[in-house]
Amino acid sequence: SAGGNRYERADPEADARAITRHGLTTALPAALDRGEFFIEYQPLVHLGDGTVHGAEALVRWCHPQHGVLGPDRFIPLAEHTGLIVPLGRWVLDEAVRQARFWKHRHADGGPLRINVNLSPTQLHHPGLVGDITDVLDRSGLAPGALCLEVTESALIGADEDLLKPLRQLAEMGVDIALDDFGTGYSNLANLRRLPVSVLKLDRSFTRGMQQHPADPVDMKIVEGIVSLAHSLELAVTVEGVETAAQAEQLRALGCDTAQGWYYARPGAPDRIHSLVLADAV
Ligand code: C2E
Ligand code: CA
Ligand code: CA
Ligand code: CA
Repeated sequence: SAGGNRYERADPEADARAITRHGLTTALPAALDRGEFFIEYQPLVHLGDGTVHGAEALVRWCHPQHGVLGPDRFIPLAEHTGLIVPLGRWVLDEAVRQARFWKHRHADGGPLRINVNLSPTQLHHPGLVGDITDVLDRSGLAPGALCLEVTESALIGADEDLLKPLRQLAEMGVDIALDDFGTGYSNLANLRRLPVSVLKLDRSFTRGMQQHPADPVDMKIVEGIVSLAHSLELAVTVEGVETAAQAEQLRALGCDTAQGWYYARPGAPDRIHSLVLADAV
């Protein structure tokens, strides 16, 4: 009910959760060694014709005692301890190899793209550009097929030191998306100096489109953001599309691509493969 695909316990178990948090933190490094993490993929579709544009990699932890944990349960802990750097490297490697595999299996070599989330700690890590270059070289995936998602809040007030690696990656042809856009109160004029090519509009805006009729203020805001983005030559992706009505509204407002339960929940990589095959017939 909290949304965001979270696997949380109810509040009365807050104590247990605090203990679990400590337990989870200490278990993280061994979990990576033991291969307890796995990735689910959620398709991104073109709003125009509903065909698959790519997929976002979303990490999960198959914990031996607690079952499958969503990223909201452990990414903040991994951020805090620095384990996010090797974990993020693993996610990137796995997702890029998966994308390469999809490309192999589709005879037409369709333009399937892979989106990977980067946390603030990864952004600050000096090895970032080298890691990404290595992963792309090893897999043979074209840089243009990779999109790195960075949250708007991670880039608020970012100085040139922080932007430099992102600029380098953008110059290599990697796309950078501004994730959760609209929640960070960033200066819109700032967008011009960020090396981003995609705005990912936060789910909170999509929610206003679910009502009948759609929330007129949300509609105006989305319309404004889309027109600003397009004038800066940025593509607009919307997240959290759960109904056909939402999809239609967002398409009419000029959004380019969409992601959400209406199309597919995050799932095993085979699911993406069958969705792409379904487009091809
Ligand atoms: P995000 O990047 O904003 O990812 C979108 C979240 O919305 C995902 O939650 C997804 O499952 C969920 N979602 C997708 N469609 C719908 C929908 O139609 N309705 C609703 N209510 N929710 C939808 P998830 O998988 O729990 O991931 C949560 C967050 O964890 C992500 O938010 C991202 O910030 C972070 N995360 C996930 N994987 C990674 C990773 O590999 N590295 C890092 N650094 N962060 C990650
Ligand atoms: Ca994301
Ligand atoms: Ca997001
Ligand atoms: Ca989010």
